[in-house]
Amino acid sequence: MPHKQERIEKLIKVIYKKWKSAFGISTQEHPDEEAIACFLEDRLSRQEKEEMKAHLVNCDACAEVATLQMKIGIVLEREVFPSMIAYVKDLVRSKEIAPVLDILLKLRDDILEILNTTGDVLVGQELMAVSILRSRRIKEFKDEVLISKDFKDVRVEARIKNKHGKAFSLAVTVRNNTTRELMRDLRVTLFKGNKRIESYLVDSGKVIFEDVLLGRYKVQIASKERKLAFILLDIKR
Ligand SMILES: [Zn+2]
Repeated sequence: MPHKQERIEKLIKVIYKKWKSAFGISTQEHPDEEAIACFLEDRLSRQEKEEMKAHLVNCDACAEVATLQMKIGIVLEREVFPSMIAYVKDLVRSKEIAPVLDILLKLRDDILEILNTTGDVLVGQELMAVSILRSRRIKEFKDEVLISKDFKDVRVEARIKNKHGKAFSLAVTVRNNTTRELMRDLRVTLFKGNKRIESYLVDSGKVIFEDVLLGRYKVQIASKERKLAFILLDIKR
């Protein structure tokens, strides 16, 4: 490892440690600073990269670390961080606009498998993080699954129902995160790529998209004034 890079990494470690202790954040489920540096340098595998993106979108702590590393990289070593700078910048910018719930699922006949999500999954009466599901070896669900995430303003619930492995239905429910009441006057829009597929103005806080084919989707949830949240949904066979 070149001397200069060693120095940068040392510096990152010191700053990160200070920052971490200041905010009292547990590192248990967070990627370490080395992994984040690898992400910024585009040295992770495709799978690791996807996991890191999903994590950074929803973890302010790690997004902050990534931003910090990026800044140090720009200052001390202009060549170190290539295309990922733009990605992290977009990420940080989009976080300010609206938070994201990521969901990655696999449909097989009448089984629904959770590959990953940044939300909590309903098991019986309990909402569980994916890390807990993994530790209990729960990943397959029959017919349908409910995934929920609390953001600053809203609680977003996505209920996904398997239609024989060929299509799915998606019910989105949005509540005020303080009062838990259904949000009124919402615009909920389903996109595939940049194409708007369906869009509804709802007064009841709930929208159902029926018979959606497998693929990658974005659901935008907005009030009259602004975007409240996004769901990024990737459902494969
Ligand atoms: Zn984190």
